[in-house]
Amino acid sequence: MNVFEKTLEQIESAGLTRTLKAIRNDSSGYCTFNSKKMLNLSSNDYLGLASDENLKSEFMELLSQNPQWLTFGSGSSRLLTGNNSIYDETEQTLKKWYGSQGALFFNSGYHANTGILPALSDKNDLILSDKLCHASIIDGIRLCHAEQIRYRHNDYEHLESILEKKRDLHQNVFIVSESVFSMDGDQADLEKLVELKEKYNAILYIDEAHAVGAMGETGLGLCEEVGVVSQIDIIIGTMGKAMASVGAYAILNNVLNKVLINKARTLIFTTALPAINMAWSKFIIDKMPEFKQQRKQLKKLVTLCNDMVQDMGYKTFGSYIIPIVVGENKVAVALAEHLQKKGFLIFPIRPPTVPKGTARLRLSLTANINPDILDEVMMEVKRFME
Ligand code: PMP
Repeated sequence: MNVFEKTLEQIESAGLTRTLKAIRNDSSGYCTFNSKKMLNLSSNDYLGLASDENLKSEFMELLSQNPQWLTFGSGSSRLLTGNNSIYDETEQTLKKWYGSQGALFFNSGYHANTGILPALSDKNDLILSDKLCHASIIDGIRLCHAEQIRYRHNDYEHLESILEKKRDLHQNVFIVSESVFSMDGDQADLEKLVELKEKYNAILYIDEAHAVGAMGETGLGLCEEVGVVSQIDIIIGTMGKAMASVGAYAILNNVLNKVLINKARTLIFTTALPAINMAWSKFIIDKMPEFKQQRKQLKKLVTLCNDMVQDMGYKTFGSYIIPIVVGENKVAVALAEHLQKKGFLIFPIRPPTVPKGTARLRLSLTANINPDILDEVMMEVKRFME
């Protein structure tokens, strides 16, 4: 057995095997998986926009009037010939929406999170990040030369104790957190983070991947709900979840924007997104403030589903991301398989995505789910776990 085969065997015996499976997303939150129609309860398309046929038709109409967008390859990096004018139009729209000086579009949230901190920090700096930050943030920080410390999840006393000890020893200090955490759906206390950033003269970096579109009066995310949009130095929004597209953006000031154009390797050394993707992103961003009804509907489902899951004895955090933590990897896999057999597409989430011993189902709600069907889902969970 060679070393790669041994690796696969270890993964298998720990119950951690991952495979890629073909899926077709149909309309209204349903999908076809293993040749079977299922309700998709694993998508981050929180507002249900990615499968909205009316939106698609409206965009196709717009596209027919703008044939310059109909390109499927950009040909090179944004710094060379890949920077189709739709990029600039999208960034102008983002700046207006956020009221910011700068907005910079990346190919994905992974590109943004692995490119920005390495471009902005050096060995004289300190990066303090929440222990449960997403893998893309962890990987970005690994590429930095700054000192790196992870504070306990949402533990701001711990964060402040590090700031007290370390602030004066460093040039810049970055505080990095998600706003809505991807695997538990719990939230950072953004007001507290702003208070600490101001007290210790730090730079606050907030990843709103799971909040943008789905939260806030106009869809700007948790930072809008809490009223701290202008006090966060760098906001990351991803297009791949409630925004129903692909790509990501950073909202920041003019100086940081220019530094990133000159130094962010994940912006410079990668082929730009095709114009058609950018046009769809801009189309969605333009409309995002209008999707109030979808955000309201999502909120209703959130209350209903969190109550149901809590009644079964699981801890949840009042979000559209609802963890059902079962502990053992193999139990999570078997429960997910059971639900899939019943027509509900939910996947098991296992380490290293979540800490060891906390394997779970991660149920994510989308605004177009029929609330009545949630009863059936919960009944199946109960039946399996008893
Ligand atoms: N940040 C967070 C918190 C995420 O959950 C994800 C994706 N799961 C990303 C960034 C990466 O975004 P993208 O999918 O656009 O690469």
